[in-house]
Amino acid sequence: MANIAVYPGSFDPITMGHVDLINRMARLYDEVIVLVAQSSQKNSLFTAEERKELILKTMGHLNNVRVDIFDGLTVEYMKKANARVIVRGLRAVVDFEYEMTMANINKKLAPNIETMLVFASPEYYYISSRGVKELAINGGSLKDLVPDVVIEAMAKKLKK
Ligand code: ADP
Repeated sequence: MANIAVYPGSFDPITMGHVDLINRMARLYDEVIVLVAQSSQKNSLFTAEERKELILKTMGHLNNVRVDIFDGLTVEYMKKANARVIVRGLRAVVDFEYEMTMANINKKLAPNIETMLVFASPEYYYISSRGVKELAINGGSLKDLVPDVVIEAMAKKLKK
């Protein structure tokens, strides 16, 4: 059975922190599915479809990485995809409590599914989608924080 990891999140937009995590997981698992959460997009900058496109443009060269949009419980998606591992990133202690709660809820919903928490790489731990958006709105440079396609997409979006 293929070892599939699902990496769920908002990805609004994808940052170099996400890219690093996806690259690292693609080396460990047969397949990595980046799962774009539709429901948490209420005040998102990009639509789920746009976020998916930006991930595909950035990670499309890896043939074991797929991107999907889902509106619902991650564990339900995982059952359909035959996946048993949820991957989440840990940047700082503040992420820990939320991730532990989510992992426990998911364990209760689906005991056979495991959550793997992966430490952010030291060079990327401070990058967040929210921080990147604030920086962009205030005219700061996004170089090295997000892929080039995201810099272009954000410039276009913020001009509107
Ligand atoms: P969510 O809104 O669900 O937290 P995000 O798109 O912000 O989604 O993040 C998705 C996942 O990626 C989360 O597990 C988050 O901790 C992780 N992540 C975000 N930024 C980084 C980073 N710089 N390095 C490593 N992991 C990260």
